[in-house]
Amino acid sequence: MARSVFSRRARFFVFCSTRKEEMEICSSINGVRELAQKARAGAKRIALVPTMGFLHEGHISLVKGAQKSCGFVALSIFVNPTQFGPSEDFSRYPRDFERDARLCREAGVDVIFAPEAKEIYPEGFSTSVHVEGLTAPLCGASRPGHFDGVCTVVLKLLNIVSPDEAFFGEKDFQQLAVIKRMAKDLNLACEITGMPIVREPDGLAMSSRNAYLSPGERENALSLSRSLLLADEMAAKGAGTGEIEASTASYLAENSIRVDYVSILDPATLQQTNSPRGALMALAGFAGKTRLIDNRILTR
Ligand code: AMP
Repeated sequence: MARSVFSRRARFFVFCSTRKEEMEICSSINGVRELAQKARAGAKRIALVPTMGFLHEGHISLVKGAQKSCGFVALSIFVNPTQFGPSEDFSRYPRDFERDARLCREAGVDVIFAPEAKEIYPEGFSTSVHVEGLTAPLCGASRPGHFDGVCTVVLKLLNIVSPDEAFFGEKDFQQLAVIKRMAKDLNLACEITGMPIVREPDGLAMSSRNAYLSPGERENALSLSRSLLLADEMAAKGAGTGEIEASTASYLAENSIRVDYVSILDPATLQQTNSPRGALMALAGFAGKTRLIDNRILTR
């Protein structure tokens, strides 16, 4: 009797383990590298989803996108100090590893790579990756050195995991454009894939930084996504770039958003354009002390 119960359990275990292996958590470069190599040896296509943690549905949408084209998904969680300016929110950036690990497990992530800063930037680290041109406007102008930090860490993560495909959100439109440029310029053997912005039901773009917002700031922050819709309507009615930018900036200010930039740019070059239809409308502004960004491709 005892024997047959055991064998039934054993069969159940085999059934479960062939469906999904346990998610691994690695803090060492060698550890995650080995797991990715093992998956590659098993003929699996490898995906990397780089994040700074405090995960939300936007991040999980990248995981889902990765699972559609890859059999092994690595998600990195690393609050990268080199992409924060001295007066920015590095030390208070929200962190909750237990919750992140649970969300990753539920989403079916294969490995979380969560290194310490000294694993990524050991003593004597002296290299920085700089992409010209695309990094000049928008967040590059407001956050000097930000994209050097982003490119350096992303290139390191790509070299560590060697994924076939890496997934980034269009929420950070400029970041995606810069990383695509870097991958092309440096002949990286990794496809860079952008995924659509995931929004709260009321339109606010999901962001780990939304956790900072007081209820009043959260209400004011809604004006970012709303202003993009208003801009789209203005463009459809034939308004010019300057007129749309000025009216958007006023609308944000009326909603207590301290505007960092409101720009209508060519989405391929991130250069100014005179024709708003089909252009990128990108915004950054502060709700209280919290800097938020959003964007939209205006209807053609
Ligand atoms: P972060 O953890 O903020 O550095 O974001 C990690 C990745 O998730 C980046 O590629 C972001 O563009 C992406 N991401 C963040 N928020 C969203 C969102 N609301 N929708 C889609 N992707 C997002």
